[in-house]
Amino acid sequence: MTTNAENSEPASLATSELGGKAIDILAKLVAFPSVSSAANRDAIAYIADYFGELGASVLRLPSEQAGKENLWVTFGGSTDGGIVLSGHIDVVPVAGQDWHRPPFVLTLESDKVYGRGTTDMKGFVACVMAAASQIDSSRLKRPLHIAVTFDEEVGCHGARELVAFLKRTGTRPAAFLVGEPTGMAVVDRHKGSVGFTTEIAGKAAHSSQIHLGLNAIQVAAELVGFLMSLGEKQKGGRADEAFPYPYPSINVGSIRGGGVRNIVAPVCAIDWEVRPILPGQLNEIREAFSEHVRDKLAERQRWGGLVPEIVTQLVYDTPPLIANDPSEARNLALQVSGRNQTLAVSYGTEAGIYQEAGFATVVCGPGDIQQAHTADEWIEIDQLEQCVAFLQRLFEHCSDI
Ligand SMILES: [Zn+2]
Repeated sequence: MTTNAENSEPASLATSELGGKAIDILAKLVAFPSVSSAANRDAIAYIADYFGELGASVLRLPSEQAGKENLWVTFGGSTDGGIVLSGHIDVVPVAGQDWHRPPFVLTLESDKVYGRGTTDMKGFVACVMAAASQIDSSRLKRPLHIAVTFDEEVGCHGARELVAFLKRTGTRPAAFLVGEPTGMAVVDRHKGSVGFTTEIAGKAAHSSQIHLGLNAIQVAAELVGFLMSLGEKQKGGRADEAFPYPYPSINVGSIRGGGVRNIVAPVCAIDWEVRPILPGQLNEIREAFSEHVRDKLAERQRWGGLVPEIVTQLVYDTPPLIANDPSEARNLALQVSGRNQTLAVSYGTEAGIYQEAGFATVVCGPGDIQQAHTADEWIEIDQLEQCVAFLQRLFEHCSDI
């Protein structure tokens, strides 16, 4: 951690002892440059050792992906019906961003701390670690679990492996609280985010003899047009005003194809994404696209001309989080936070994966999503304070006091 004044107390601006402890831990977490492309083993080892010293049962769960691990921590026995506090340790890259502070050194200024991951979402993990120092396992009425996952930012691979681990071991927690930044509001709805890549293989030919080739860019352009019209069609459905864009959306984010002007482009690929509000909407869009591709290929076959090869791959699938009241996660988070309503947010999280796997899940964590992924990412110290206070109340709620 660095501070503006040398030798000043790092956590001097924190208003509580646990808040100060959370900032000290956050400094250690930020110092691991755990961007999604890198191994996270060192950061996981640090967190695992920390919880081990507190007397928790700690399971490091190595992935088949080299250097990547999930962490599963349990306080208070391994019966069903536990509460899971879940966060990811990977962060988005800093390359190409205009940082004015060192991204992997926690910098404390005024009422904020700066550094990559402070908001998204090492701040939450640090709060859980700090607050966990007060857990008395012998008094817990139900288990408290902490899940730390990898690769949230690049497709939630860690969360999927965690779900597989829970199924394999027959572990059935009652509720998941995912600590992505919500300003500590209780969020029980968000859109999904599902990525596809469609690759088109045509046939190269000299541009003086286009009749001998099959232009993959031309085929891609027609498919892009279809996707755009499919997106427009979604506006015919019910508007869900909880979201700034109140319909499922389709976006083509990238197109790569061809090579030179005078060659008929033999290959082209499009990266596109669907953001469904409800799971059925994704299936409808997928099916409409597949049907369109089938029709187009059949049409070309009937003409007797060259037929392109069109292959669509699912790149990532983060399902939507669907309001499900009364769920145990929702009731618990509202009760402990003292709030009386839940909110919807536009961004995706791992929560939809846990819900899809059958676990009641809400999102509730410190910080403002506007800060996530930005240069000079920061979190207000007050948000960390609110989070540790929330966690203390949660732990009390799970204990016999
Ligand atoms: Zn995140």
